[in-house]
Amino acid sequence: MVPPASYRSLSLWHDTVPGTLTPGEPLGSDIEADVAIVGGGFTGLWTAYYLARADPRLRVVVCEREIAGYGASGRNGGWCSALFPASLPKLERMAGRDAAITMHEAMRATVDEVGRAAAVEGIDCHFAKGGTVALARTPVQLERAKAEIAEARAFGFGEDDLRLLTAAQASELAGAANVLGATFTPHCAAIHPARLARGLAEAVRRAGVQVFERTPATQLAPRQVVTLAGTVRARYVVRATEGYTPELPGLKRAIVPVYSLMIATEPLPESVWAQIGLAGRPTFSDLRHLVIYGQRTADGRLAFGGRGAPYHLGSAIKPSFDRVPAVFGALRRTLGELFPALGDARVTHQWGGPLGIPRDWCASVGLDRATGLAWAGGYVGDGVSTTNLAGRTLADLITGTDSELVRLPWVGHRSPRWEPEPLRWLGMNAGLQAMSFADREEGQTGRPSHAAAFMGRFLGA
Ligand SMILES: Cc1cc2nc3c(=O)[nH]c(=O)nc-3n(C[C@H](O)[C@H](O)[C@H](O)COP(=O)(O)OP(=O)(O)OC[C@H]3O[C@@H](n4cnc5c(N)ncnc54)[C@H](O)[C@@H]3O)c2cc1C
Repeated sequence: MVPPASYRSLSLWHDTVPGTLTPGEPLGSDIEADVAIVGGGFTGLWTAYYLARADPRLRVVVCEREIAGYGASGRNGGWCSALFPASLPKLERMAGRDAAITMHEAMRATVDEVGRAAAVEGIDCHFAKGGTVALARTPVQLERAKAEIAEARAFGFGEDDLRLLTAAQASELAGAANVLGATFTPHCAAIHPARLARGLAEAVRRAGVQVFERTPATQLAPRQVVTLAGTVRARYVVRATEGYTPELPGLKRAIVPVYSLMIATEPLPESVWAQIGLAGRPTFSDLRHLVIYGQRTADGRLAFGGRGAPYHLGSAIKPSFDRVPAVFGALRRTLGELFPALGDARVTHQWGGPLGIPRDWCASVGLDRATGLAWAGGYVGDGVSTTNLAGRTLADLITGTDSELVRLPWVGHRSPRWEPEPLRWLGMNAGLQAMSFADREEGQTGRPSHAAAFMGRFLGA
């Protein structure tokens, strides 16, 4: 566990979230419950939330090692999007065309459900549904944009789902440099993630859920969660530990923790916003291989992130891995290249955290009825909304409610395990290097990179 005094400095979001970050009561002794949830991020909290609504008599317990919203849920880019880590063609291969389309529709509806539930609970998470603009800034990226539109059309999704913007239309939305075009989808909201996570923790407590903080689980087993302070005996045990999962016994190869890092600028003056735009707060990225993502915050900053931090041998996770000066420097340079209007605006916050990648890059949710063990995760970088769908689905599975949600193709999906070390380390870091190389190569040659295609096949992305 980390010192409680350090929670404020975890991210811009933790620094600016109202209310205290003083940990709530830890578990003090053995207790009995109906459902024991391990992990107080969005997955654990949404699951508790919908369980409490479905059946207020259920005794639901959340055990969180640090504080609610400590992990990726409190630190992310705040894209509450309809993105799902497995593409439509991949879902089609897994479960058929109709199931792939239904999954995508469920994700679209989930964006609105997050906004609705937050409003009902009085959680002001700065939810602004301004869509996403993904800029094409090289000819290769423009081709990729057109291919994405063609793929959406092939699955029957029209202009209201994803559309191609001309250079002029894209520049009007986001005043970036070298814009050749863009894709735009309306299905994304920008949020302040820690406000949502902390607000959700309060909401579930109001609904009667016991949230124990500073309570690390050491073992998850059928009908029980063992913690350092006592055991929770429960009919159902939910694993909601995402990037931290490899630290649990027997789960070393279940998921790979990959670090995504972010920076945030000081609040920018109106004169700068007049050039950058992003009115209505659409989230933004471009179509390079190594993911970048950003949002205009409600208090007028740019919050901007990307992958590229190294994977650590043995799926190790440490607070010191959250901060990589070279990656922060690269993010600041990239942001300046995107938006020259930024000038020498100061970076006030730098942070990062682990997200979880399953071997086949397909998130999953499920319940093993024989053991009562349930799980949800493997969202890669698309968990902000997907966790809500997971929470509703787990609530239906646990309460035995037959719904459309429990028939979605990710339900009960089992990803294969990752390779043992050192293969995992070699593969992950080679993949990250290849994606950076591919972006540089494409910038220089103007042609699609073979390195990217090869790594995509290797990683199954
Ligand atoms: C920098 C960054 C940017 C991102 N940007 C986006 C984005 O813009 N949009 C998007 O959709 N997704 C994004 N993601 C991914 C998204 O944040 C995650 O997919 C999502 O928050 C996962 O939620 P979770 O509750 O499953 O996991 P987490 O939020 O990581 O929660 C897991 C919790 O489990 C606790 N825990 C771990 N081990 C134990 C234990 N043994 N006992 C008790 N508790 C334990 C942890 O302390 C943690 O609080 C980003 C992630 C990162 C790191």
